[in-house]
Amino acid sequence: MSEARLRSMTRVVAVDGPAGSGKSSVCRGVADRLGYRYLDTGAMYRAMTWAVLGAGIDPNDDGAVAEFASIPSIVSGTNPQAPTIEVDGIDVSDPIRTPEVTGAVSAVSAVPAVRDRLVALQRSHAETAERDGTGIVVEGRDIGSVVLPSADLKVFLTADPEIRALRRAREQAGTDSVGEQSLSETGAALSRRDAFDASRAASPMTQAPDAVVVDTSAMALDQVVDHVCALIRD
Ligand code: C5P
Repeated sequence: MSEARLRSMTRVVAVDGPAGSGKSSVCRGVADRLGYRYLDTGAMYRAMTWAVLGAGIDPNDDGAVAEFASIPSIVSGTNPQAPTIEVDGIDVSDPIRTPEVTGAVSAVSAVPAVRDRLVALQRSHAETAERDGTGIVVEGRDIGSVVLPSADLKVFLTADPEIRALRRAREQAGTDSVGEQSLSETGAALSRRDAFDASRAASPMTQAPDAVVVDTSAMALDQVVDHVCALIRD
């Protein structure tokens, strides 16, 4: 099937998986190739966390976070070539990647009021893409299981923990050569975050029963993008 024909069929693609599995690069690559939109739901949780910290709220104070959750305006730009995220009109693309936000995001994401607010926004992006006939690739932890259970395709991306730590450490260092210490610290931080995300009561990271599992450990980015595009065609 031609890519033009594929584009003419509205598609909602849900991609879940742990940190460092390659979700963002793969989802952007697939969306770009097929002319779909791209929604990074992790960036939305990070944006809410940035706002919580900026308001001086303790991210572990569930009650205060829940009360605050309805306040900030969170707007995602869904162009896969240049995705954006804004809080109250401020571009927070860089500040949401700081260690402070990364260290607090799992606690904030576990608060049901935060999830209710952001899941509603995520669903409205998918509805808009369906209504106007554009496809959308949505990445996160609970997209196939909770946010968009009737997605046309669900993919669960995984990779060996050592590979995920190496990818993330390289990304953070901005170079391919990373030291042993940074590798082991990154690996420990990733597994702490995964354990928290997978064990929380509210919408934990889950592999939907009908998701296609793709292990990216031994695959280059282009190969994974090819593979997911082939799954969409099928
Ligand atoms: O994908 P990323 O690593 O940027 O996600 C940051 C955090 O946001 C995750 O560790 C998780 O706590 C939360 N998250 C979530 N549900 C999603 C996407 C992300 O709880 N759908």
